[in-house]
Amino acid sequence: MTFAVHGLPVARGIAIGRAVLVVSSRIDVAHYFIKPEEVETEIDRVRTARNAVAEELQKLQASVALMGPNDAPHELAALLEVHQMLLQDEVLTGGVKHWIVERLYNAEWALTTQLEVIARQFDEMEDEYLRERKADLEQVVERLLHRMKGTAAVLAPTPPRRKRRAEDDDADPTANDAIDAPLVLIAHDLSPADMLQFKKSVFAGFVTDVGGRTSHTAIVARSMDIPAVVGARSASQLVRQDDWVIIDGDGGVVIVDPSPIILAEYGFKQRQNDLERGRLSRLRHKPAVTLDGQRVDLLANIEMPEDTINAVKAGAVGVGLFRSEFLFMGREAQRLTRLPDEEEQYQAYKRAVEGMQGMPVTVRTIDVGADKPLDGRSVRDDGHLNPALGLRAIRWSLADPAMFLTQLRAILRAAAHGEIHLLIPMLAHASEIRQTLSLIDFARAELDNRGAVHGNVKLGAMIEIPAAALTLKTFLKYFDFLSIGTNDLIQYTLAIDRADESVAHLYDPAHPAVLRLVAETIAECRRQGKGVSVCGEMAGDVMFTRLLLGMGLRSFSMHPSQILAVKQEVLRADTSKLEAWAQEVLEAEEPAAVLTPAAASQ
Ligand code: PEP
Ligand code: MG
Repeated sequence: MTFAVHGLPVARGIAIGRAVLVVSSRIDVAHYFIKPEEVETEIDRVRTARNAVAEELQKLQASVALMGPNDAPHELAALLEVHQMLLQDEVLTGGVKHWIVERLYNAEWALTTQLEVIARQFDEMEDEYLRERKADLEQVVERLLHRMKGTAAVLAPTPPRRKRRAEDDDADPTANDAIDAPLVLIAHDLSPADMLQFKKSVFAGFVTDVGGRTSHTAIVARSMDIPAVVGARSASQLVRQDDWVIIDGDGGVVIVDPSPIILAEYGFKQRQNDLERGRLSRLRHKPAVTLDGQRVDLLANIEMPEDTINAVKAGAVGVGLFRSEFLFMGREAQRLTRLPDEEEQYQAYKRAVEGMQGMPVTVRTIDVGADKPLDGRSVRDDGHLNPALGLRAIRWSLADPAMFLTQLRAILRAAAHGEIHLLIPMLAHASEIRQTLSLIDFARAELDNRGAVHGNVKLGAMIEIPAAALTLKTFLKYFDFLSIGTNDLIQYTLAIDRADESVAHLYDPAHPAVLRLVAETIAECRRQGKGVSVCGEMAGDVMFTRLLLGMGLRSFSMHPSQILAVKQEVLRADTSKLEAWAQEVLEAEEPAAVLTPAAASQ
């Protein structure tokens, strides 16, 4: 039966494929594809864990048998017996093997996937006793996952691409064998680190139950340039493994088990999107200059040094934001040291500089915390009730100077290989600015003492807290340039958690207060002859291109996939006409109502 689930559109386009459910478990589980030659090793890991858990349960059973009725309730022995049975159950073991062999899931992913399949069968049972066995199954699987911790294989970079047969290309996609079909990812939630892992894989689209439009999970999805919907609330409950799914990343809709008519309709839309992309790609080598001759810098936001390949392909004239924290995340799953050391970081920043072939690279120092936990551990799990207001970004760095100095040394060393701009996130206080600058000096002195080669960097601060936007004079006294992080600026100005889908309707980039802070920051930088750019999601949203140009912005940083669409807007704009219009928008009670490209061109 066809049905639709609605969420928030975060990355454009249409994806049609088979659902791959990623189930959240109480244990942090890595999800990655193994190589075909690793299948036996993964099956062995499950077998070894199963034998160890069976032994563990046997020991427990033996000790229960020795206890008197007052020490152990008689149900305990029966319960342990049930756990032993579930552990050996063919539906569990056979199912896990199926996901490993057929889908090349790593063992933990296969286990949690099969747990979900069986758990749903339990949910549908009439018999209450049997329904309650679901909790036992979860406990057994958790025991297995605990046993397997530390025995994970190193992450495989890509799953094998399944070949589609040429004769299938025009056919109804659902008519193909599931093995040939594109895969779409459906999850309750995915950490940014998980997303980064999936970035290397072949998913054609993805959906999560939770998350806001500018949550970091959504940001990584956008950088993957595949259709995505977040905040789809119960999608992961309603969709089953292998269901056919259409993800409409423009409308924020997920259609499950679509009828042939709906499939044909979306197939048509998909082809239209491909044509539009083809048209845009012709702008790749065109300089971004407005009709009245204003040059505009379109820069790239990246998460990993390898993203510079797409940045250069898209025609970016530099990197405006390298979110360096992604080098620090998801390391446990890859069995790497907890934090990257100076050499590893230096190599990564150097690769980014070399990848940009002489164009500048803006490296932002680590911004973990809030919805970007290190190794999947939510800050909320640690008892912090308001992580977005807590130890995040520069606050984190200043609280751990040794870690911060390591990063600073690595960045300064990489600056010997090309133009690096060093960007500091989340500053609000003059004292934080002074502490940061003295640590940068200290890092330089350490390198000098060591005789290590390092280069000069331009220093910049992110304006992403209203307090910073309201004290620009202090910031401009200390920094060479400013970069406006609209994602956080909106969150902190409007008191809306950017990762919380339940308040996503109030997350309004066009709120007059937000626009005023953005406009005043741009104007003040221009008055003082300092560089200013916007690197939040607003910079890559074509709805805002003309408004930002009208405010005087000439440097936009965004995902490489958004550059060509924004360039098209720039090429059609006449900034001499946009200034007065931008002023009108700024004074409007509901700017969103007047904020259409058509209004700007009148
Ligand atoms: C921002 O806040 O706008 C920004 C660019 O930084 P991040 O999204 O990584 O917080
Ligand atoms: Mg930010």
